[in-house]
Amino acid sequence: MRKNIVAGNWKMNTTLPEGIKLAEEVNAALAGEAPKCDVVICVPFTHLASINNVIDKNKLGLGAENCADHRSGAYTGEVSAPMVASTGATYVILGHSERRQYYGETSETLREKVRLALDNNLTPIFCIGEVLEQREDGSYFEVVKAQLEEGLFNLDAEEFGKIVIAYEPVWAIGTGKTATDDQAQEIHAFIRKTIADKYGAEVADNTSILYGGSCKPSNAAQLFAKPDVDGGLIGGAALEAASFMGIVNAF
Ligand code: PEP
Repeated sequence: MRKNIVAGNWKMNTTLPEGIKLAEEVNAALAGEAPKCDVVICVPFTHLASINNVIDKNKLGLGAENCADHRSGAYTGEVSAPMVASTGATYVILGHSERRQYYGETSETLREKVRLALDNNLTPIFCIGEVLEQREDGSYFEVVKAQLEEGLFNLDAEEFGKIVIAYEPVWAIGTGKTATDDQAQEIHAFIRKTIADKYGAEVADNTSILYGGSCKPSNAAQLFAKPDVDGGLIGGAALEAASFMGIVNAF
């Protein structure tokens, strides 16, 4: 059966000492009774190796926020999937809307990144989601379907089984505007059906589909209660251990 997952996306926040402190706080908060979900923190590249050394990986997963679309070579400033994996990280966020919007990431690039992530035993947390205009004109179903088809449906069923999906409506990211639990359920069910149509019901049933977009302790329980919402990808609220743990404990 699919896993419930709460994953933090720290984005371009925290210096290395601040990041280590935050990771230690989350790690300490997980020392007691096990939560009812897997917990992951996705952190800046510069922090990965150090944070890997201070957390209990049996309780807290570690991931990067991106990786390169090439394995190695003359790509100044890029960080490859093998490099990420060599730090001890086991997850990588791919296709975040900020990467698509500000760094021109296309489905073609993302297919390469997904391939390299899987080749290096990294679990991709693959982000999809519509902008406000597409929500308002009703085209959001086609938009997320196209993002799935173009970014992931080249994979075979076994490979697809290793992917975590994060549905993140762009209009809800960092805006304080959350999708309602019914809006999230509607599109998560559609995403699962789209996966079932391609890979069959068993693969679809086993795929974790996370919600992201201004998720916080006050709305997480309602969102996570929906049958097709398997957890959250958390931005702003992951930058403070107490609020992140408030979301983890919403399960
Ligand atoms: C995100 O960037 O993945 C995100 C969900 O951000 P926030 O929670 O701040 O909306």
